[in-house]
Amino acid sequence: MDKDLLNELKTRLEKEKLSIEKSLEKFAKKDENLKGDWDTRFPHSDSESGSGSLEKEADEVEEYTTLLPIEYGLETKLKNINLALEKINKDDYGKCEKCEEEISEERLKAVPEARFCLKCGDK
Ligand SMILES: [Zn+2]
Repeated sequence: MDKDLLNELKTRLEKEKLSIEKSLEKFAKKDENLKGDWDTRFPHSDSESGSGSLEKEADEVEEYTTLLPIEYGLETKLKNINLALEKINKDDYGKCEKCEEEISEERLKAVPEARFCLKCGDK
């Protein structure tokens, strides 16, 4: 693969990694024991504990339920980005994990963290 393109994709991956980590930090706590794993923080009420209204607690549960899929999506993307960066370091980037064919440059430009070629699909 073209060195310039590889560098460009690497820069994009690193930037995206930082921005995802920033988003995750807003509502999730990084799990220090498990690299790359994030736990969604259960939102805590700042008001005095014990006397909080049930209605407020229900809101918080709802917020938590809404955040979970978002966190999951971000976390998955972050994992793929980390994988891609690892592959770049090992000079193994741009190959489909399934058929081992080279992934097209167009696809990598659109999805730099892609793990599979178009034929094998992303999921
Ligand atoms: Zn493939």
